[in-house]
Amino acid sequence: MSVTRSACRTIMKAIRVAQFGGAEVMKVEANLTVPKPSEKQILIKVSAAGVNPVDTYIRSGNYAKLPALPYTPGSDVGGVVEDIGSEVSQFKKGDHVFTVRTDTGGYGEYTLADSSLVGVLDDKLSLDQGAAIGVPYFTAYRAVVVLGKAQKGETILVHGASGAVGLACVQIAKAKGLRVIGTAGTQEGLDIVTSIGADAAVNHRGDNYTQSITEACGGSGPNLIIEMLANVNLEKDLQMAAPRGRVLIVGSRGTVEVTPRLTMGKELTVQGVMLMGSTAEEWEQMHAGIREGMSAGWLKPHIGHTYTLEQAPQAHNDIINTKGATGKLILKI
Ligand code: NAP
Repeated sequence: MSVTRSACRTIMKAIRVAQFGGAEVMKVEANLTVPKPSEKQILIKVSAAGVNPVDTYIRSGNYAKLPALPYTPGSDVGGVVEDIGSEVSQFKKGDHVFTVRTDTGGYGEYTLADSSLVGVLDDKLSLDQGAAIGVPYFTAYRAVVVLGKAQKGETILVHGASGAVGLACVQIAKAKGLRVIGTAGTQEGLDIVTSIGADAAVNHRGDNYTQSITEACGGSGPNLIIEMLANVNLEKDLQMAAPRGRVLIVGSRGTVEVTPRLTMGKELTVQGVMLMGSTAEEWEQMHAGIREGMSAGWLKPHIGHTYTLEQAPQAHNDIINTKGATGKLILKI
């Protein structure tokens, strides 16, 4: 995987998608030119790349904003700064960093990212864990703190806590002093959810599991619900939420019929979350929260499975079709 210098360019390998479609459209190409950073960009030698569900939506062509073809997928990497643009002062060659978005794609040996969407990785975390920070932790911070306005002493339900965003929500909410209930669909997932700090874990595939959640809340319901599959759960969320409760929709994969009247008696708020809709001030707030979490030690990404670059199609298949999440999926480059 070492970089080869030819007479006039440096080459690398990366996944390329030449047409939208099934996971098999992702091919490794070994003769790509390593890009050069413009003024505000950073060139990163990638050690590991995070796989997010949105990578699969984009690859299939079924997403609101699509890249020009061909492209390399991937927004989250953990890696080492190789070169910086002329206007970049806050990073230097050799820094260990993570990204929350890349300009040239994370599934490859090198990537370019805008310096505003790069963070320095704390010494306590590995480069693999760096690949698990970007989209999951920033989305979780946006949902729980920026939009959800979590308050110490409140109870939060993380509805789908065993995946990458859910585990991040659990850690952030615990750090903010909330009582945390997380759901998972397997015993392994439930064990991980409690091992990273949730006060209670409930199986979202169990019969009458919402009853267990209400009991775990002491009868009054969660003040804040972070929802990973709204098309399945929104009606249950409206039933469970405490008076003046807030439901934050992070994930949804279809349509659902709900009873609007459920929002009225308890004056509930239902709000969508879109990480890439964040303002510059909100990005700063999220960066600061993530830095604080790394420094204090509560931000600890949990890696579920590791794949090679060549296994990217398998990783895309697994993140959508395999039930029983156990944390973040990464590609080891
Ligand atoms: P992931 O790692 O694949 O996790 C998926 C989670 O959903 C797992 O915890 C899974 O639990 C859970 N789940 C499955 N069936 C469920 C059910 N019936 N009820 C509740 N939870 C259920 O994915 P992720 O990276 O955490 O992302 C989660 C969702 O958020 C995805 O839909 C993704 O597209 C979306 N997302 C949105 C944004 C945004 O800006 N809005 C940003 C990032 C991600 P088990 O596998 O244990 O059943």
